[in-house]
Parts: sequence; structure tokens; C-alpha cells
Amino acid sequence: MASVEIIELRKLYGSVVALSNISLEIKSGSFFTLLGPSGCGKTTLLRTIAGFHAQNSGRIFIGEKAIEHTPAHKRDVGMVFQDYAVFPHLSVFDNVAFGLKQRRVSSGQIRERVASVLDIVQLGDYTNRMPHELSGGQQQRVGLARALVINPKVLLMDEPLSNLDAKLRVDLCHQIRRIQQDMGITTIYVTHDQEEALATSDMVCVMYNGIIQQAAPPLEIYNRPANRFVANFVGANNFLKVDTKGHGVVLANSGISTGISMPKGESEAGIVAAIRPEKTDVSQTAPHAGQVCLPAKLSHISFIGREMEIQGLGENGEEIRAVMRPDSDLMALSPGSDIHFNFSATEMSLFEDSETGRRLS
Ligand code: ATP
Repeated sequence: MASVEIIELRKLYGSVVALSNISLEIKSGSFFTLLGPSGCGKTTLLRTIAGFHAQNSGRIFIGEKAIEHTPAHKRDVGMVFQDYAVFPHLSVFDNVAFGLKQRRVSSGQIRERVASVLDIVQLGDYTNRMPHELSGGQQQRVGLARALVINPKVLLMDEPLSNLDAKLRVDLCHQIRRIQQDMGITTIYVTHDQEEALATSDMVCVMYNGIIQQAAPPLEIYNRPANRFVANFVGANNFLKVDTKGHGVVLANSGISTGISMPKGESEAGIVAAIRPEKTDVSQTAPHAGQVCLPAKLSHISFIGREMEIQGLGENGEEIRAVMRPDSDLMALSPGSDIHFNFSATEMSLFEDSETGRRLS
């Protein structure tokens, strides 16, 4: 196990800037996730660390060793791919043994190490099966065993769960995290699934347009998104335009006071407030004291079992959503009914109103 440091890494495909001056420090033994929408550069970053792509400039260290010019097979990394990449004509044993044979490990040691790693991924009873006799989840565990058996310093995983169905994803995701923690192996994991990222990671790095938007522990990413893009991409958010009145922040077009002041030194133009739907409540009658209250017309209610989602059109002309415990009185309302969306101003975040507008503290 080792730390990974990336310094001002830059990668272009022709004129497309896939990675724009990426700098990161990944702690030894941590589970570090690259999260972002399609095309943000996460696979390019992972494959550049693996040595499958050459960077245009920048440095990559595993531990103390600079590896940016080391060939892929000498980088001491194990890679797990989205499509399993198991050899179809080789048994589970031979698939896992492959990397050890290439490294000319003795056959006794190969048997021992393969058996031990197959136990770790809970495939000890499947040693002689062929890949076509395995489920997708089992094939991916072969992929994981194959990456782990060479004792890499760093494990790289490129959307390893995306070909599996929802329930299996959750199960295997937990298994991967358990194995990673038991072995203490530094892991860099690529996904576009935010729940997977929040649930498994020590650190989440949100990328967009080849640029790191924020790298932080999951709770901080969720509770204190660094910019509007992160606030929008990770979890849901209502974005409400705000104005200033004196020093106070008011909802735009309605003048409803939020009770908070404009942060000192910030320009007053082009600011949005973000409030999470689960921090927003709906009432039919008088608003709760001490809360920001936005009168609205009900647009739609969806009941989703444990909770319900209420959508409305605020008096200020903006859409707003709340997610709350099911309430039969509210569920009986017809579209167009008068309701109030209520939330605490302390739960609001303020951002500059652009796609990646920064958070105002
Ligand atoms: P996805 O989740 O869809 O795999 P990603 O975040 O992993 O996306 P990358 O595959 O790293 O994104 O791509 C980053 C950018 O580089 C995109 O704009 C993509 O179109 C571009 N790109 C990737 N590979 C190539 C290539 N071989 N030639 C040209 N452009 C490429």
C-alpha cells in the first residue's frame, strides 16, 4: 500500500482538454473515488495513472517513486475494468493465476496465492468453473481477484459495477469496501453513481470538464459543496434566485426575507440560494415560525414508499421540491392547491449564479 500524488497532470486528445492541471494527494490505504458526469475525464485520469495513456505534462508518484514514464506493467497497480475483462477460455483459477505466471512465480506459490485471494472474494468453491458458468457479479469478483493477486500497491477500478443489476451493485459495492478495508489497499475508484461514491469512499473527488471541482470526505461534499456544480450533481437541490435588500438576502421576485445577511465583501449580483428537498417541508396553513416560507401552488405529488416528493410553483415563479414523510392530508390535495414550502435559512447555501459558481461562505 502506498500514497498517490498527482501534480499538474494535463492530458489532451487533439484539441480536447481531457485533464486540465489535475493535482491530487491520495492517502495510503484510503478509498478515493473519482465522480462526475460522462465525459468529465475520470476514466482518462484513471488510465493515465495506470499507464495506458501518456500525459502531455505533469507528474504521478506512487509512494516516493515517480511513475509517469514507467511502462504500465511495471507501475505496481492492479486494474479492474467495467466489462470484467476475464479471459473466456481460462478457468477461474487460470484467470487469477495469469499475472503470477507472467511474473514467473513458482507453481506452489501460485496455488497458495490464488486460493487465498479467491477466498477473500468468496469464490473458493468456483476454482474450476469457466467464466460462462458464472454470473456477472461472480465474473467481476474474478476480475477483482486477478487485480489483487499480484499484491499491487494501488488498486484502480473503472466503473466495476455498472454492468450489474441494482441489488447486486449494492452487495458487491459493500464487499469491495470490506475487502479494501481488510487489505488496507489504496484504491482509486471511478463511478458516475453518486450514491455509490458517498457510501464507499473516504474521499470523493468531483470532476467536470477535466477540472477538479471539489475533493473532500463524502459528508463535506454533501453538506458543504464547494460550488454550484457540486451542489447540483451530488444529491438534489432547489436553486432559488436571491436579491439583497439593505444587507439582507431576500428571495428574488417575491421579496420574501430569508433572515440572513449578505456575506461581507461579496457582490450582490447573480446569486442563488440552494436548499435540499429533504430540508424542505410543506404545510397547507400558517408557516412554521422562524422559517423561510415560500407560498406556492401544488404541481405534483409522488408517493415513493418511505417518503413522498412534492413539487410546486413558488410565488416567485420558480419550481421547488420537498421530500418528506408521507402525509395523507397533503396527498389528498389536488394540483393547483395553495401550499407553503418552508425551510430553515441556516440550511441554505449561497452560490454565484453560474454553472460552477463558487460557494459564498
Ligand atoms: P464516461 O463516464 O462516459 O466514461 P469519463 O468521465 O470517463 O466519461 P473520459 O472518457 O475520460 O470521460 O473522456 C474525457 C474527454 O475526453 C471527453 O470529452 C471525451 O470525449 C474525450 N476523449 C476520451 N477519449 C478520447 C479519445 N481517444 N480521443 C478523443 N477524445 C477522447
